[in-house]
Amino acid sequence: MAERITIERLVKNYTSGSRALDEVSLEVEPGAFLVLLGPSGSGKTTLLRCLAGIERITAGRIDIGEATVADGSAHLPPERRDLSMVFQDYALWPHLSARDNVAFALKRRKIARPEARKIAETMLERVGLGRLASRYPTELSGGEQQRVALARALVADTGLVLCDEPLSNLDADLRERMRIEISSLVRQAGATTIYITHDQAEAFALADRVGVLEKGRLVQLGAPEDVYARPQSPFVARFTGLAGELAVRVRALPASAGGRVEVEPMTRSSVRMVHAHLGADLAHEHEALLLIRPTAVRLCATDGDEHHLVGMVTDVAFRGRGYEHAVALDGGTQISGVYSEWRVGRGEPVGLRLEASGCHVFPGGAAAGAEAAPPEGPAAIAGVVLEPAAGRDGASPGRADPGPADPDRRGSTAEVPAEVGL
Ligand code: ADP
Ligand code: MG
Repeated sequence: MAERITIERLVKNYTSGSRALDEVSLEVEPGAFLVLLGPSGSGKTTLLRCLAGIERITAGRIDIGEATVADGSAHLPPERRDLSMVFQDYALWPHLSARDNVAFALKRRKIARPEARKIAETMLERVGLGRLASRYPTELSGGEQQRVALARALVADTGLVLCDEPLSNLDADLRERMRIEISSLVRQAGATTIYITHDQAEAFALADRVGVLEKGRLVQLGAPEDVYARPQSPFVARFTGLAGELAVRVRALPASAGGRVEVEPMTRSSVRMVHAHLGADLAHEHEALLLIRPTAVRLCATDGDEHHLVGMVTDVAFRGRGYEHAVALDGGTQISGVYSEWRVGRGEPVGLRLEASGCHVFPGGAAAGAEAAPPEGPAAIAGVVLEPAAGRDGASPGRADPGPADPDRRGSTAEVPAEVGL
């Protein structure tokens, strides 16, 4: 039942002249859950609408299963595409009860009305709304309305489910519960799912595969763990969560060391030399940008032997299982989301140790600001690894950090021998 989706060099220009999608190609395996992640205006909704047949494509091709539903000449209308959609604003019929909203989706399958209403009720039970089947949308909360919309999408039993930011109108607590429900219900239904969001945590939590869109281009596609561990550009790294960025100068490129490099922070007044390893070409003495995942920063003592940066705590936030610190390095660089089991007060000096798994060096220096950074090709990518510290400094009052459990922090612990808080 689940359909394979093939998109080839899809282009969508609006009549206004804006190119919303620029040669997007991707393939989704039958039954897979693909999340497309991108900032506002990156083309997410346009892509979904092209898939649904609500928009005509400018060029390229879309296949759903064996059928080409859109190419230069063909355009299959939405009702003939065997798909269902869940929208951000629920899009329920206001004059129909929850039951009838869901049953409406069965019309196409020519199921008799009493039978359709029974199937609808069963599906409403599955999304936890059995008792509310007779209510109208205005009598339901936002979360309940979105469950009705989800039931309507699932009851249609299509091979493809498209979700356009279905959780963004819900408050935080409900969003997490609905995320789990969508994840399990859609997977149980066995449909291929394409889900769009601008929320990185949501994307990583839901997806089998994540595609990142930037200005209408698909700039990276992979498993969430891969995208997190190996972002292919500063844009992807920034959009999927950074603690901070540091302008560095490439100091040493020992030819025999498997791409190892020393980088030196540009603001020398407060920082010590950072020894790093590099996986791709960067010229000696070049300015570069060190992008740091929150998972890659640990607090450490300021007087230890290991390589570290020095800064001052500017904010500390209690996060239930520990504390997140914001630390200002001299020169103004701010590193945030620095997790520790232990609280370090505002104004206190701290050391920051950077871990291998979450530091990425890209060409470009301080001038390569968030907006100005040019897109970098894969050849420019490098994982930076701090030189392993030769054991812990015995004098430091370090304690073993049990390691992170929240999604922003996963994926790094395997390479971290000992994490140290103050
Ligand atoms: P997203 O869903 O990622 O926020 P959209 O797909 O809605 O992005 O929009 C992508 C780009 O296309 C934006 O620059 C937007 O202004 C433009 N766009 C979207 N819909 C239309 C439209 N109907 N007419 C003209 N331009 C549009
Ligand atoms: Mg949108």
